[in-house]
Amino acid sequence: MAIYRGDCHVHTHRSHGADLTPERIVAEAHAAGLDFIAVTDHQAAFEPSSWTDSGLLIIPGQEVLTPDGHWLALGLPPGVVVDSVAAARRFGALCVVAHPHAPYPGGTFRGRLGDFDAIEVWNGRWHSDLPWQADNESALATWAGGHLPALGNSDAHLAGQLGSPQLVVEAPTLTAPAVLAAIRAGHSWIAGSRAVQVDVTVTADRMTARISGAPAGTAVVHTEHGPIHRERLPENGSKTVSCALGTVATVRLEVRHPDGRMAALTNHPVVTSGPERAGKWHAGWGLACYDGDSASSSSVNRASGTAAGPARIRQ
Ligand SMILES: [Zn+2]
Ligand SMILES: [Zn+2]
Repeated sequence: MAIYRGDCHVHTHRSHGADLTPERIVAEAHAAGLDFIAVTDHQAAFEPSSWTDSGLLIIPGQEVLTPDGHWLALGLPPGVVVDSVAAARRFGALCVVAHPHAPYPGGTFRGRLGDFDAIEVWNGRWHSDLPWQADNESALATWAGGHLPALGNSDAHLAGQLGSPQLVVEAPTLTAPAVLAAIRAGHSWIAGSRAVQVDVTVTADRMTARISGAPAGTAVVHTEHGPIHRERLPENGSKTVSCALGTVATVRLEVRHPDGRMAALTNHPVVTSGPERAGKWHAGWGLACYDGDSASSSSVNRASGTAAGPARIRQ
């Protein structure tokens, strides 16, 4: 497995309100430390001829605008425009609710979250200088109680926006199928910028996170019971944070800057007790995932963690 950084919600000048050329996007993506981007113009098909020799993985996509909100179809074939989740699924696309609480007409999502594969919890600074806004806080609350994997994307329309935030994905190869499968499975976390790094280890009874890039910030460990641990980071922004988990099913980490803006947000690793519920925790980690058919169909994607030893994920 390898770690790749990307931004799955990027607009070119072909979208209303955007003025970025493909050349400018590629330059900004490299400057932001990205390995991949998804091009998601409004109701417009991907044009591969604009993206040759980018040095990036370019995932063809589209932002679908509806009266009930916006969503992203990621992994569409070039030249294809879709107008429904069913149509996008026929092409094997990953369907992501975009900015569900965006404060403008049509931007607020009013559909069924259960119809989608993932949700954009952290949308970038397309209409503000702030990379974390009130609508992101609302999206976080919507997401935290469910099972969908979380994405963070810049929704870049203008210069200087791309890559903030960015999605950090663990995948076997830098290909569109591998990256989208990893996102679908929740094998990802969200960083405010390339400067932020989080490396999480979850064992049967403990979560440990090495954090850097969030000076004087705060790390908070959340479970299904709410926040269970809070720790201040030093001025240099680097610290290893650790806390006992006790009897919990899910655990995730938020890292915030001193003013409350998010610096990093992980997905929900799921810690299970295995068959011997009365005994000690022994199962490893998994990540909440969703098969797209039913809101109650979350499942555990087990990884290497077993009774033989601690499991580890680079979050
Ligand atoms: Zn939108
Ligand atoms: Zn957009």
